[in-house]
Amino acid sequence: KRKRGVDELSSLKTAVEKLDLKEDFSEFSKLPLSEFTKKGLKASHFTQLTKIQSKAIPLALKARDILGAAKTGSGKTLAFLIPVLENLYRQQWSSDHGLGALIISPTRELAAQIFQVLRRVGRYHAFSAGLVIGGKDTQEEQERLARMNILVCTPGRMLQHLDQTAAFDVGNLEMLVLDEADRIMDMGFQSSVDAIIEHLPKSRQTMLFSATQTQKVSYLARLSLRDQEYVGVHEDA
Ligand code: ADP
Ligand code: MG
Repeated sequence: KRKRGVDELSSLKTAVEKLDLKEDFSEFSKLPLSEFTKKGLKASHFTQLTKIQSKAIPLALKARDILGAAKTGSGKTLAFLIPVLENLYRQQWSSDHGLGALIISPTRELAAQIFQVLRRVGRYHAFSAGLVIGGKDTQEEQERLARMNILVCTPGRMLQHLDQTAAFDVGNLEMLVLDEADRIMDMGFQSSVDAIIEHLPKSRQTMLFSATQTQKVSYLARLSLRDQEYVGVHEDA
């Protein structure tokens, strides 16, 4: 049993290395994904990739930084959640590793939606995941934070924890996602996000998604991304 698990993992790693970025992936079953993610997608009735997903996911599986632009409703959530689950899974991320991925969203409502999708699609994985959006007891939240592998958060609350919760170590973090970057900036979270990024390790993978490309989004992109691939889907594409 154990041997089989090890073999599966090494063939998955090889498949990701060999993944041909010129190929046009239309079905999740054709991508090199863990059985846990494949089962989660199937159970959620996701079979075909949307355009932004087929452009972003293969690159993100190969640990590239992503600057993604696609209108609301195009499927950006799975475009970053699948790589988050997979890139941590292939490293056998466990509770000992601490926080592996941080997903920042502008509003509580949007963060809660992302968390729901994570719970559904990631249900067969063993990661611990939390939602940090304020409105709850800070003390209780602090105690749970230390044990999380994946967090979905709003900027203000996250910064509060990074500044105040001594036991909260983000030194191992591998992946940062900035979702709805245009709204993050429009809502005045620039300095909070700047400060959060200051706390994070410099060597990490970052994915920034936005419905629109504005001056402020470019600022955030410059601040957070490295050698990024631009993936865009437009109305007439
Ligand atoms: P965005 O973040 O770009 O606004 P979402 O990630 O919220 O878009 O997805 C919009 C809707 O499309 C959701 O209802 C979601 O369940 C659905 N969706 C996303 N990806 C797929 C897919 N591959 N197949 C079918 N439906 C999808
Ligand atoms: Mg979205």
